[in-house]
Amino acid sequence: MSTYQSGEIVQWVQAHERELLRIRHALHQNPELGHQEHETTQLIKDTLVRLGAELLPGQYQTGAAALIRGTGEGPLLGIRADIDALPIQEKTGLDFSSRRAGVSHACGHDIHTAALLGCVQYLSEHTADFSGRVMAVFQCAEECCDGAAAMLEAGLFQRGTPDFLLGFHCAPSLPLNTAGVCQGPSNASCDTVSIRIKGRGGHGAHPEDCVDPIVIAAYMLTQLQTIISRERAPMQPSVLTFGSINGGSAPNVIPDEVVMQGTLRAFDQAAREHHKEAIQRIASQCSQAMNGTCTVTFTKGIPPLVNSQDGCELIVRAAAEVLGEEHVSQELTPSMGSDDFSCLLEACGGKGVQYLFGTRSPEIPNSGLGLHVGENIFPDAAVPMASAVLIQAALNYLKR
Ligand SMILES: [Zn+2]
Ligand SMILES: [Zn+2]
Repeated sequence: MSTYQSGEIVQWVQAHERELLRIRHALHQNPELGHQEHETTQLIKDTLVRLGAELLPGQYQTGAAALIRGTGEGPLLGIRADIDALPIQEKTGLDFSSRRAGVSHACGHDIHTAALLGCVQYLSEHTADFSGRVMAVFQCAEECCDGAAAMLEAGLFQRGTPDFLLGFHCAPSLPLNTAGVCQGPSNASCDTVSIRIKGRGGHGAHPEDCVDPIVIAAYMLTQLQTIISRERAPMQPSVLTFGSINGGSAPNVIPDEVVMQGTLRAFDQAAREHHKEAIQRIASQCSQAMNGTCTVTFTKGIPPLVNSQDGCELIVRAAAEVLGEEHVSQELTPSMGSDDFSCLLEACGGKGVQYLFGTRSPEIPNSGLGLHVGENIFPDAAVPMASAVLIQAALNYLKR
């Protein structure tokens, strides 16, 4: 017989609401950019130590991880919250607004962090209610796309890799205190590509003496889009966007080179590999056809986020128990946006889920503006219930 019930968990988070909000407000007022979350990390570590959680070693500058041991043998459950803020000026007018000019928690990571700390507190106070262990991961630099990889490299899982990974992201698109799960692929991979096209510069009046990299770039840009329109099945989306193209400085001078930078998004590993090969092929042959050369460089990217079936089932059940079935949506559309939760999930063998948690309140019009918007309000009321869903899911996974 289980010794816990969703009613009990909800009562607990409500009774601890003031504490949870105190943490949330402290994080929100002092937002820090990726890899610079020193005070945030200190606050998290101090709280973890106060709660009696066991801090785990790791050579990372920011971010933290801690263990909570249940009673008896069982699996290791990882729960991840990202902790970094964005270079966006806050314009919410909240009395606990950011005190750091030009930096704010415009992606709701302060809510992720506070909710996970609430979960750690509950589990630390109820170790007789579960077996196995929970690893709480407070991940740095999600917005930089490299925090998860950096922490893995610095030994995040040196004392054991979680058997299963859980996490959530705030969603201003969903009603407050509802959960949404995307079955299977939920977020695209993200790779950055840089193409350096080399020609031969000279006088704009004498193109016959030059190799014009600007014209090569123009042809290449349109040819590269045929990877998506002609080499990819129409029902299987991918995106290739070049957001930066630079070359030349005068109207009458042909430059030596042009550099284009773009982002590549796909939902499966095979597509990701195919697109990289195709970019290389088209870029080099297009340059060659016009007497130029090019070098294509990919920086290490993020894999697609694919929720496992048992992960989705776990969260659908836990969210229904805490929020009511009518507050759980299983039909979310995948997003071309990426989240490096996928790096950690991949390291955990792909077992787990990242779900969405609604933060749009009808009483707060500015709560539905969207992520990365300086005016968007993430309501306090999301914190206790977000924490309750994490607690319920953890207990369901580690039930004795
Ligand atoms: Zn974000
Ligand atoms: Zn985010």
